[in-house]
Amino acid sequence: MRRGLLIVVSGPAGSGKGTVNSQLVATGDFVFSVSATTRAPRPGEVNGINYHFIDREEFQRRIDENGFLEYTTYCDNFYGTPLKEAMAVLESGKNLILEIECDGAKNVKRIFPDAVLIMLIPPTFAIQEERLRGRGTETEEVIRKRLEKAKREIEQIDAYDYIVYNYNGGAAVAVDDIKAIVRAEKLAQHRQPDAVKKYFELD
Ligand code: 5GP
Repeated sequence: MRRGLLIVVSGPAGSGKGTVNSQLVATGDFVFSVSATTRAPRPGEVNGINYHFIDREEFQRRIDENGFLEYTTYCDNFYGTPLKEAMAVLESGKNLILEIECDGAKNVKRIFPDAVLIMLIPPTFAIQEERLRGRGTETEEVIRKRLEKAKREIEQIDAYDYIVYNYNGGAAVAVDDIKAIVRAEKLAQHRQPDAVKKYFELD
């Protein structure tokens, strides 16, 4: 069976990765991997859609039974990609999006070297700062912490295959760029080992 593409999209706070990923899912060609986490749901988040919200004991049980493709801790909480669900999507031929942070992205690449790692960033640090301040919802201290974390995340960019920019005024360009990456990746020679055989129609 033809396998779908395993795509990792990482992005710091303010990169708009949630919007970009939901627009990709809306095209019907991508499935979003719903991670498990021990963090509490934020207002508006739905169990089973944004995350599988589970407690630490349950998370540990799933680690013990090798239920995760990868997992990590982030700000004192566990986050993990459920293995069975991920493999089922890939085997169905659909493209799977993992919206995970840098350590998880590197682990995925180690396990699946053919995964495509995309870093989504605002065009400049100054624009990102402007966006985070523009929301007006966080204190100066929280904004500074998030910007510091964003810098450290972007410094790990050399682990990624592609850099996509999310400009102000809609995610359409970033969505198109990711679709173009996927289209090109599917035509990569190394992903088509049977091309010659098919051409000559040999058994
Ligand atoms: P948040 O708590 O803001 O939803 O997520 C915190 C960070 O954890 C984000 O960078 C998010 O992409 C990342 N994350 C979410 N799920 C997973 C996962 O299953 N594995 C890893 N490694 N990171 C995740």
